[in-house]
Amino acid sequence: MSVNRGTFVERRDVNEDFQQAGHSRAEWAEADRVPERLVPTHCSFCGVQCGMHLRVADGQVIGVEPRDYPHNRGSLCPKGVVAYQQVGHPERLRYPMIRRGGKGGQLERATWDEALDYVVGRWKQIQEYHGKDAVAVYSGSSMTNEKCYLTGKFARVGLGTRHIDYNGRLCMSSAAAAYAKAFGIDRSPLPMTDIPLADCVFVAGSNVAECFPIMMQWIWQARDRGASLIVADPRETPIARTADLWLPVRPGTDVALLNAMLRQVIEDGLVDEAYLAARTTGWEDVRAAVQEYTPEVSERITGVPAERIVAAARLYGRAPTSLIMHARGIEHSTHGINNCLACINLALARGQVGKPGGGTMMITGQGNGQGGREVGQKANQLPGYRHIDVLEERQYVAAVWGIPEPEIPQEGAAATEMVNLMATGEIKSCLILCSNLMVSLPDNAVVARALDTLDPLVVIDFFLSETAERADVVLPGSVWCEDEGTTTNLEGRVVKINAAAQPPGEARPDWQILSDLASRLGRGQFFPYQSTREIWDELRVASHGGISDYFGITWEKIEAQGGVFWPCPTEDHPGTPRLFTERFGHPDGRARMTAIRYEPPAEEPGDDFPFRLTTGRVVYHYLSGTQTRRLGFLNAQAPEPWVEIHPMMAERLGIRDHEMVRVRTPRGSMELKAVVVPTIRPDTLFIPFHYGHAGAVNQLTNPAVDPTCKIPEYKVCAATVERLDVAPGSHGATGTGDAAGPRQNYTPESDPKMFPYAVGETKTPASREGKRH
Ligand code: SF4
Repeated sequence: MSVNRGTFVERRDVNEDFQQAGHSRAEWAEADRVPERLVPTHCSFCGVQCGMHLRVADGQVIGVEPRDYPHNRGSLCPKGVVAYQQVGHPERLRYPMIRRGGKGGQLERATWDEALDYVVGRWKQIQEYHGKDAVAVYSGSSMTNEKCYLTGKFARVGLGTRHIDYNGRLCMSSAAAAYAKAFGIDRSPLPMTDIPLADCVFVAGSNVAECFPIMMQWIWQARDRGASLIVADPRETPIARTADLWLPVRPGTDVALLNAMLRQVIEDGLVDEAYLAARTTGWEDVRAAVQEYTPEVSERITGVPAERIVAAARLYGRAPTSLIMHARGIEHSTHGINNCLACINLALARGQVGKPGGGTMMITGQGNGQGGREVGQKANQLPGYRHIDVLEERQYVAAVWGIPEPEIPQEGAAATEMVNLMATGEIKSCLILCSNLMVSLPDNAVVARALDTLDPLVVIDFFLSETAERADVVLPGSVWCEDEGTTTNLEGRVVKINAAAQPPGEARPDWQILSDLASRLGRGQFFPYQSTREIWDELRVASHGGISDYFGITWEKIEAQGGVFWPCPTEDHPGTPRLFTERFGHPDGRARMTAIRYEPPAEEPGDDFPFRLTTGRVVYHYLSGTQTRRLGFLNAQAPEPWVEIHPMMAERLGIRDHEMVRVRTPRGSMELKAVVVPTIRPDTLFIPFHYGHAGAVNQLTNPAVDPTCKIPEYKVCAATVERLDVAPGSHGATGTGDAAGPRQNYTPESDPKMFPYAVGETKTPASREGKRH
């Protein structure tokens, strides 16, 4: 199912939307103007980071033109072609604001000096009385590498707090942890341009056609060469509709599917024993662990017919070159790391990883989701993927920063854990950069209460997001093309973002705001930058010798080569598009295989909540929608959330297509339009997650997290749906096949680490589980 504007507004002309629905100053009619210059840069949205040219006239961005970059070759998706409309948007934040009159007061205009002095004054007070860690930093991953690096340094050197983490924690920290564990390096092993070399593409939990539309051209090329396509997803998404095999897997049961496929590959004699012997460890344990997952056992757990599982294993296993592409569908899980490791086991068993066009590829969601986790804004990492608990790595970074090693704080709370520390008063103030927690974190009623305990809550952003609305101080920052810098796309390719405009009004580039705050904190000598190039050059040195070594990547080289893949340790090194061709990243050069067993999701359906609710993206929006809900054309196509329900269940519950319904989970309820589609499993509901306030599906989702990487389980929780004229809970069970009654496999009491909001934990140097992830 893929919605479009017809789902919401019937019989309107598409051109009318293009002409009328945009709200920005750079209107569509201006696309005819002749630009004074074209600025080569990249899209602000997803991890593909398509190249584009921005059209600039009179100092304003007036449109976009194609750019023939190696991985998008001139193409842009619907989001990319209107991204420029953010620049002159009338809702941009143009001056600082302070909430006057306490928490119940209004955000009112302030001067920069007033706002920054107020924030720094409060931080000094708080840290004097409650310690450095009472102030936290929570940042985004759609920012440039330079901003992400500076944010990590600001937290640790400017504020001296250990609590710094970023919203990539919510995105794909499970995949990152799995790749680090299995391969020793957290990066997709091959470029997108390798995809056409595959004879079989297996997409596990990714709605590629809607979430990463420009990647599809590489998959189509593989198809044109005769490659088969398998898609595992609870919904028949646009890419699933074109697949040779769609595996409609029950949300939260991926390991049972992947292990059964591996078992069948073994049964059919398709394992590459020579590769396993030469390049891996742990294979015998994996072989033994998958034996219990017969096709029939897997069918009972996953809901995928046994014969389809066998067919998928054979299609995948018999292909000379096969590629598994995975994303949030398997990663947003309390077993997210295991799900990714099960994919990796399958690919290693076939001897595919390190081969052109073969192996596994994680599809990073955020624009700089890859770079954002490499440059030192993650709770447990320093720049270059250096580990914050390894003395030599701390010493190296301390020397670059010019501070004694002991001054670098130890590991702090993960983003999901910070909410609990706010609620309990351990964190008293937080600086949030370009991240919309009120839409993106699960169980957002708890998040709202936690944010409201902060004094002050400080937000740097360029639109007044649902989170900024709650702030005590709002500092207006810059959009992506108002500054220079780099991002690292989902391939590990570092690309260059160029400036096309100035921030509007009194808004400032984010790096200048951070440097100013550091200066007022008395730490200005560590933030002497005059430009983002100086930050980049420092980051290159800070990453040198680390896993993600950027040292040899200059801005000039990026432009000359069409991006540079890390690691790139010297200026004459060409970069590394393909990893693991000869050896993996572990000291012995071998990949680690891990025996994985299926464990159910944290919350399963029962009589009161008989469905599995899953969430995801649509083509017209990006993440929390802070940007795309303000871009007229995009918002006109999908202006509000909806719930997808299968016709069989809709009929049983008396729900008609387009009727307003109530969806409830143990955490809350919301009212929204039902869209009755045959493209979803009957036991599953789907709601897109891009909306705020009453439209936020994260009113309903479960805050349970993977105990190691702390990623929340957005992709499955127990839910029910009912007509609005039915009293909540009165219709009883629907007979979806989960008749065992309400069941929680993990409760806050039985496994507190999975419920960070309910119990939480405070890390100490001695209790850092999963410290290398
Ligand atoms: S695929 Fe991603 S990077 Fe490319 S234009 Fe669309 S949103 Fe932008």
